[in-house]
Amino acid sequence: MKVHFLGVRGSTAAPGIEFVRYGGHTSCVALAHDGEEVPSLILDAGTGIRRCSRLLAGGAFQGAILLSHLHWDHFHGLPFFFGGDRPDSRVSLHVPDQGPGVEVLATLERAMSPPHFPIRPDQLRGDWSFSGISPGTFEVEGFSVLAAEIPHKGGRTFGYRVSDGHASITYMPDHCPTNLGPGPDGWGEYHQSALDLAANSDLLVHDSQLVAPELAAEASFGHAAAEYAIGLGRRAGARQVALFHHKPDRTDDQLDEIGARFARESSVEVATESMVLVL
Ligand SMILES: [Zn+2]
Ligand SMILES: [Zn+2]
Repeated sequence: MKVHFLGVRGSTAAPGIEFVRYGGHTSCVALAHDGEEVPSLILDAGTGIRRCSRLLAGGAFQGAILLSHLHWDHFHGLPFFFGGDRPDSRVSLHVPDQGPGVEVLATLERAMSPPHFPIRPDQLRGDWSFSGISPGTFEVEGFSVLAAEIPHKGGRTFGYRVSDGHASITYMPDHCPTNLGPGPDGWGEYHQSALDLAANSDLLVHDSQLVAPELAAEASFGHAAAEYAIGLGRRAGARQVALFHHKPDRTDDQLDEIGARFARESSVEVATESMVLVL
C-alpha cells in the first residue's frame, strides 16, 4: 500500500515560516492500495485532509474515513475536504462508538453545526454515511482493520492497525501510556492493546508530541514521548516508526534536533507532511 502523510501536527494547526519543512496541518494519513494512485482509506480528518483532494486526480473521493477520536485536530478539516464535499462523492465516516444510546451524527453535530459552523455533517454534498465502531476487527474498502481502545484524555480514543494482506500500518496518533503507569522506562506502560496494535507492523505511526524530559510537566495533556514510540516499536517488532503529531510550537529546527537524536535508529523517521511511504 502507499501511505501519504497529509498532516503531521498535533493539537492545532501550525502555519508559519518556522514550520514549513515538516508542515503545519493537523493529523491526516491517506492509504492507497497497491497499484492504485488514488487513496480509498483516510485516517483522521485534521486540516491535512484538505491536501487529499489533490491526490484524487480531479475526481471525487470514493472511500472511507476512520477517525481515531473526535478532538478538533482530527476533525476540523472535514468540511474543507473538497474531494469529499461534492455531489459525486461516496464517503463512509467511522468514529469510535461513544456509548449506549449515543448517536454518531448527533455527537459530530455538537462540533459541526450552527452557531459553531455554518453546516452540519449530513449537509456535506455527496453520498455520506456516519457510523460508530467498536473495538475488534472489520473490513473496509478492501483493508482489514483492527481497532483497539487506548488511553488518551477527554473522549474515547482508538488506535488502528490496517492491513491489505501484504503490509500493515499501525496508527496511534494520540496516546497517553503514562495514564497506566510509568512503565519500565518511565515513559509509560507498554500495555497489551498498544503491543497488539503494533505487533510486527511494517510501519508504526505514533504520537510523539513530547520528548521524555517534557513528560513530567506535560503528560497530563494526554500525549506520549518520542522515546516511548520508539520503545513500543522495538518491543512489538514494528519494522519502521514514524514520529507523528508534533507539538504545535515545535519548529523545523527543533524537529531536526529530535531526528538527529534518534538518527542511530535507522528505522525511525520524523514524519513530514510531504512524506510518502510504500509498504
Ligand atoms: Zn490530536
Ligand atoms: Zn486528542
